[in-house]
Amino acid sequence: MFDFELDRIVAWIRDGGYTSVALQLPEGLRIRSSEITDYLFERTGVDITIIGCPCYGACDLFDYHGLTDALVHFGHSPIPSQGDDPNVLYIESRSDVELADSVGDSLDFLPERIGLLATVQYLGLIPAVTDILEAKGRTVLVGVGDSRICHPGQVLGCNCSAAESVSDDVDAFLFIGEGDFHPLAAAFGVVKTVAVLNPVTSEVRDMSEVRDRILRRRFGAIQGARDAETFLVIVCSKIGQNRSSEADRMVELIRSHGKRAFKAIMEEVTPMSLMAYRVDAYVNTACPRIAMDDSARYDRPMLTIPELEIALGEREWGDYVFDQIRP
Ligand code: SF4
Repeated sequence: MFDFELDRIVAWIRDGGYTSVALQLPEGLRIRSSEITDYLFERTGVDITIIGCPCYGACDLFDYHGLTDALVHFGHSPIPSQGDDPNVLYIESRSDVELADSVGDSLDFLPERIGLLATVQYLGLIPAVTDILEAKGRTVLVGVGDSRICHPGQVLGCNCSAAESVSDDVDAFLFIGEGDFHPLAAAFGVVKTVAVLNPVTSEVRDMSEVRDRILRRRFGAIQGARDAETFLVIVCSKIGQNRSSEADRMVELIRSHGKRAFKAIMEEVTPMSLMAYRVDAYVNTACPRIAMDDSARYDRPMLTIPELEIALGEREWGDYVFDQIRP
């Protein structure tokens, strides 16, 4: 179960004297929005609006100004580099799952020095996993990320600086979380084994195979874009995905190779939103995972920033780097 801290939200609404509040939840938590609304309305009487737009991260923070007095954003931690708005409350929706006793046995294969990582929901398990590993004689390190990262050990899908900060001092990483999305960021970003512990199922697996499969696809996309003559450079209008200056740099780079480049700003990058453009390839400066994980949905090659540099011969394939969003 995830903790929605409903009584803390009630107290925050009352203390702030708000009369209207917007609720922003990612897709996976939106099913709880009606019961959350009921709970808050019954106790505060404020006007509550559920934001129906897609939400993938705190990078997506809804601009509530002019609509409500305040915003409650669920499922993600703040991104410190985006600044602090006192009228926005982040509910990280931490999990209360407890580790099975058998978990220790499945971690026996780990080497001597381990870096621990997690999604925000499972950061609370870092001390327990540390104890398990230290009892087995392992050395455990928890890195501190840059100012896009709120908590030690936390990884975003576009930023694994917490892993980078201890990468030289560990032999492998253990990631606590569900799914591939977040551990893949670490697997792309550091040249170390990344194993994943699913705290719900107790399954432990290595990310190498998934990472290598995606990297092979990325190689195909880069090759497919080498002969492209026209590029659409995508800029995202979302606060935490906007990399306008990088987009301008890409436009200049493409033109310096005698090719044509157009720049388009958009809120959502989808196959539909790109259909109308007559170009040979896309360069995505928005969330880098759109190109890396969803490329099969697009009818033309979509490259990240470092991938464009490779396609244009400015960077070697051997020097491939994960396109992280830095503060
Ligand atoms: S840019 Fe992408 S990976 Fe990064 S926080 Fe936003 S949705 Fe997640």
